[in-house]
Amino acid sequence: MTHAHVTGPTTPLTLSLVVPVFNEVESIDLFIARISEVFRSETQVAVDIVFINDGSTDGTLELLLERQQHDPRLTILDLSRNFGKEAALTAGLQYAAGQVVVPIDVDLQDPPEVILQMIALWREGFEVVLGHRVSRDSDSWAKQVSANGFYRLHNRIAEQKLPENVGDFRLMDRCVVQALQSLPESRRFMKGLFAWVGFRTTYVDYVRPARAAGATKFNGWRLWNFALEGITSFSTEPLRIWTYLGLGVSLISFAFAIFIVLRALIHGIDLPGYASLMVAVTFLGGLQLIGIGVLGEYLGRTYIESKRRPVFLVRRIYSTKG
Ligand code: UDP
Ligand code: MG
Repeated sequence: MTHAHVTGPTTPLTLSLVVPVFNEVESIDLFIARISEVFRSETQVAVDIVFINDGSTDGTLELLLERQQHDPRLTILDLSRNFGKEAALTAGLQYAAGQVVVPIDVDLQDPPEVILQMIALWREGFEVVLGHRVSRDSDSWAKQVSANGFYRLHNRIAEQKLPENVGDFRLMDRCVVQALQSLPESRRFMKGLFAWVGFRTTYVDYVRPARAAGATKFNGWRLWNFALEGITSFSTEPLRIWTYLGLGVSLISFAFAIFIVLRALIHGIDLPGYASLMVAVTFLGGLQLIGIGVLGEYLGRTYIESKRRPVFLVRRIYSTKG
């Protein structure tokens, strides 16, 4: 393989870490220290860190600004409010200038050492190196089960399969970052977009540890909405189901109608039938409501997308590079 960026192990390279932070005062120092430690002996890798402050209310920004005084590697994007991790990542990718870019969580659940293996694979010619979790032991049981269910369903109905047990933690070549930026949608389900753009991809295995400090920002309801976003962003199957369900139910009703008419002709008219009537009415009513609900999900998304609002708003950029 000979590709544009295939480089020897000593060719200098610039690496941008993209780190969304939302109320993470407890994690930031641990994170910066680990990064310094991991890259201390990597003299050929020039690291810069883009922190995206996603509307923190706990002094995260102030802490970052203080650290930046002594650490010119830090760039800080201060968003105008909490836009969510997806939007924060989008913002960070836009400002990350490195030849290779790695989105990474600040809580050290994405071990920075893994980046060294990713870089080695990038040097071999891969454009995307995924971080693949070999175990989710650190996640709660409920999260493991629901995540599994989500991937199953998503990959069954969506055209672009999501690699399982892969999060946002990955190394991307500049060309991949550019491709992501060319996608115009404003509702951004990053895992799906990452998969959609393609490129020459490989992965490294790692064990996902528990959070180093602080608490998770994703509760059950947020994850549920996240899953809905993922499925509706990348598949229209839930819309099409109703056609077939409707056809099936109509066929059954038609057969049933013939049966009733024949029975009335042969045996005469009888009144009882309240139970079957009620069942049919309520069952169909329920089905129709679900169908309308699914339509609503998509219509709502189309509506929001049609407004063409920006994905995030930046209050201020703090950079040491002028
Ligand atoms: N995060 C963010 N905005 C949010 C929620 C989370 O920027 O609205 C960041 C958070 O600070 C962390 C990363 O996204 O760096 C992952 O969040 P978390 O660890 O809470 O998620 P989990 O690992 O539990 O999935
Ligand atoms: Mg985490």
